[in-house]
Amino acid sequence: MLVIGLTGGIGSGKTTVADEFGKLGVTLIDADVIAREVVEPGTSALQAIAERFGPDILDINGALNRAALRKIVFDHQDQKLWLEQLLHPLIRELIRSRIEQATSPYCILVSPLLLETDQAQLVQRLLVVDVSPQIQLERTLARDSSSTKTIKAIIAAQMNRDARLEKADDVILNEGSVAELKHKVAALHSLYLDMSRKN
Ligand code: ADP
Repeated sequence: MLVIGLTGGIGSGKTTVADEFGKLGVTLIDADVIAREVVEPGTSALQAIAERFGPDILDINGALNRAALRKIVFDHQDQKLWLEQLLHPLIRELIRSRIEQATSPYCILVSPLLLETDQAQLVQRLLVVDVSPQIQLERTLARDSSSTKTIKAIIAAQMNRDARLEKADDVILNEGSVAELKHKVAALHSLYLDMSRKN
């Protein structure tokens, strides 16, 4: 199975691009969704997290309080490492099984942290959605209720734009209209279909 990795900074248009590939019938695997699945109530990972950080890490429904966990790992590098060592292999295995179940000629793994984690090993080709930091900020401000300061901090913490582009096999520059974006997706879809036949 040909697996295309789709990544980009916050507000670059990953979700919008992925949706367009989805409309063309491509199986999408969303790493963010999978990261939530591995800590659903009843999982051994959630149990391990509750044992390490105490019951306050769960909400009244027994689900993970993600904000509380984010706060702990933000300040403590050792706890962050522990959590990553617990979750990353589980996430990778679930992604792997979803790739096996994919029903289209190729599939797309959408992940904001594709290049920062071992998920990069699961893809054969990397598609980066790219926009200027200014557009990134404007579109994220329009989409989320976060402040300019928060979004700028997220952009600064993510992989640098040039470093990401350096690793890309394909780049979609998403500074134009959504109609333009659709054309770019359609062109890449043909390329990936060709590649999947030769894969
Ligand atoms: P990401 O998933 O990378 O964070 P999104 O796909 O959610 O980014 O895009 C960020 C915001 O910008 C969304 O509200 C989306 O609808 C909008 N958007 C994406 N591409 C375009 C575009 N070409 N023109 C205008 N708005 C866009």
